[in-house]
Amino acid sequence: MRQPTGGMHILLSPLRFVRSRFAEYYQKHPSAIQPPSAIERREFGFVLFKEKIMARHKSFKNAESLRSFLKAVVPLDVYYSSARYEKPEEKMEDKGRTGTDLIFDIDADHIPTPCRKDHDRWICSSCGAIGKGATPGKCSSCGEQKFQEETWFCEICLDSAKTETMKLIDFLMRDLGFSSEEIEVSFSGHRGYHICVESEEVQTLDQMARREIVEYILGIGLETEFHGLGERSEERSRILFGPGLDGSGWRGRIARGVYELLLSATPEELQQIGLRKKVASNLTEHRELLLESWKGKGPWGVTKDVGFESWKKIARHGAEKQSAKIDTVVTTDIHRLIRLSNTLHGKTGLRKIEVPITGIEQFDPLERAVAFKEGSATVVVSYAPQFKLGNGTYGPYQGETIELPMAAALLLLCKGRAKMVE
Ligand SMILES: [Zn+2]
Ligand SMILES: [Zn+2]
Repeated sequence: MRQPTGGMHILLSPLRFVRSRFAEYYQKHPSAIQPPSAIERREFGFVLFKEKIMARHKSFKNAESLRSFLKAVVPLDVYYSSARYEKPEEKMEDKGRTGTDLIFDIDADHIPTPCRKDHDRWICSSCGAIGKGATPGKCSSCGEQKFQEETWFCEICLDSAKTETMKLIDFLMRDLGFSSEEIEVSFSGHRGYHICVESEEVQTLDQMARREIVEYILGIGLETEFHGLGERSEERSRILFGPGLDGSGWRGRIARGVYELLLSATPEELQQIGLRKKVASNLTEHRELLLESWKGKGPWGVTKDVGFESWKKIARHGAEKQSAKIDTVVTTDIHRLIRLSNTLHGKTGLRKIEVPITGIEQFDPLERAVAFKEGSATVVVSYAPQFKLGNGTYGPYQGETIELPMAAALLLLCKGRAKMVE
C-alpha cells in the first residue's frame, strides 16, 4: 500500500512506538524468557530506552523476578554475564568470579560477503556524496574522511555466518570433544550466531587458555609441515606426501581444504594465492587426476610441475578456508555480557533464539526470529535495500510512506531507517 510522500505528515520519533511494542512482547510472553543456568550468580546488564545507556551489575534470584523486571522496565537490550559470581551486584573487583562459560560469537560483519555492495552504503559527512559497498578511506568527491555508514544484513550474510557456525561446531565436537548436548547455538537476532558451552571443565579456563582455543580454531600460527605435509628423498628423487581427507584435527581439515580448492579453483584464483602461472594452469589441467588421487595417497606429487613450496601455499590456503571466523575478543573476555535468549534485539526487533544443532542447515533465522506476527504500522522509510523477513520480501525503499507488517516496520524503525507517521 504505497502512498506518495510529502503532504502534512507528522513524523514521530520511533522510540516510543518501539518501546510500547517491546512492552507488549514482555507482557505477553513472560514464560518465553528462560533464565540462564545459575541465574542468581549471573550479572545482568540492560540497555535502557530512555538514555540508551547500559545499566550493569544487576542480579536476580529467580526467573520470576527477572520476568517482572523486564515487564516493568522494558529494556531495549538484555544481557547476562558468561561468568558466574559469588556477588554479581558488587563492583567488578569484588564480585568473586567462580567460573565462565566458553562462548563464541560469529558476526557477518567480520565476513567479507559479496552482497555488501548491494546493501551497504556510506554518506560523506562533509559533501553528502553517497556510495555503495565498503566505506572508502576518503571521499572521492571532496577528499574528507568522515562518513555516516549504513549497513544492512541479508540472507547471504546470515548464510555465511551459519557456515562459519557449522565449522565451529565441528571443531568443538571433533577436535575438542564436546557432545552436541553440551553446545548451545543461537541466532543473535541481528547479524550472527552465539555458541555457548557451559560444561564444568571450561569454567575455570583463564584468558590464556581461551586464547589458545581461539588460535586453534582460527588456525593462527598453523604450520602445515607439522600436520602431515612434507617431502623426503628416496634414491635420487624427492617424494612429496601430505595428510588424508579423514585425518584427525587439522590434518584432515587441511586435506579437505585442499580438496575443495582443487575441486573448483580457476587458474586466476590459484595465482591469487601466490602460485606461478604455470603451476596454476598445471593444477587446473590435471583436475580430474588430482581429485581421483584422493582415493589413494592424495594429490601431493601427482604432477611433477607442482613442487613442495607450491603445495605449502595450497595447504595454507586450504587451512584458511577451514578455520571458523570467530570473534577473538568475545571468547577471551571472561567477564563478557551476552544477549539473553528470547529477548528482543534493540537494533532489529527480532528475538535471539536457540537453533537446534541437528537442524541448523535448514534453519531460517529471518523466519524463526520474528517476534511480532500480527498487526501493521505505517512508516516513512528514508532508505532500505530489498529485504526478506518472515514470509515476505520488502523494498527497496527510498523516501516513501508505506504500511508494513509489524515485524518489518519494527526492523526499519530499530535500524534507524524509518519514522512513524500519525
Ligand atoms: Zn565528500
Ligand atoms: Zn548480505
